Amino acid sequence: MASYFEEHNCEPTVPEEQYRQNALLELARSLLSGMDIDLGGLDFTEWDQRLPPPASKQVVESLPRVTITPEQADTVLKCPVCLIEFEEGETVRRLPCEHLFHSACILPWLGKTNSCPLCRDELPTDSPEYEEYKKDKARRKQQEQRLEDLHGAMYT
Ligand SMILES: [Zn+2]
Ligand SMILES: [Zn+2]
Repeated sequence: MASYFEEHNCEPTVPEEQYRQNALLELARSLLSGMDIDLGGLDFTEWDQRLPPPASKQVVESLPRVTITPEQADTVLKCPVCLIEFEEGETVRRLPCEHLFHSACILPWLGKTNSCPLCRDELPTDSPEYEEYKKDKARRKQQEQRLEDLHGAMYT
């Protein structure tokens, strides 16, 4: 089997460097195969096709109520759901992503699904099944990040 450097038609400058790069490649490959096992063992793909569950009731109830300031009213800030401009002094709900909505617009939405309709930023849910899926997704993302870091380390 051709070595990494033969495949890429270049010579390592020092033998220690070659050893380090091969070790990193090995590590990257074992991470990749580990990822395959994870993906095969846990099948959460149905969540990818389906609307996530409603936002947690407790979280929705504790969404901060904010009052529209004269400055915000001046910038013609609109509720993204109904597209009506907010009026100065009006009380609206703020999602963690900082987007503002009328209570009457956002509450029914969050009773259906857990993400901001504008930026899809997700709120916690009351569904243990979905929370597990989210954790798994975050783990996979982390693994991808580690691979990217390894790749970065190999080529710098
Ligand atoms: Zn609205
Ligand atoms: Zn948002």
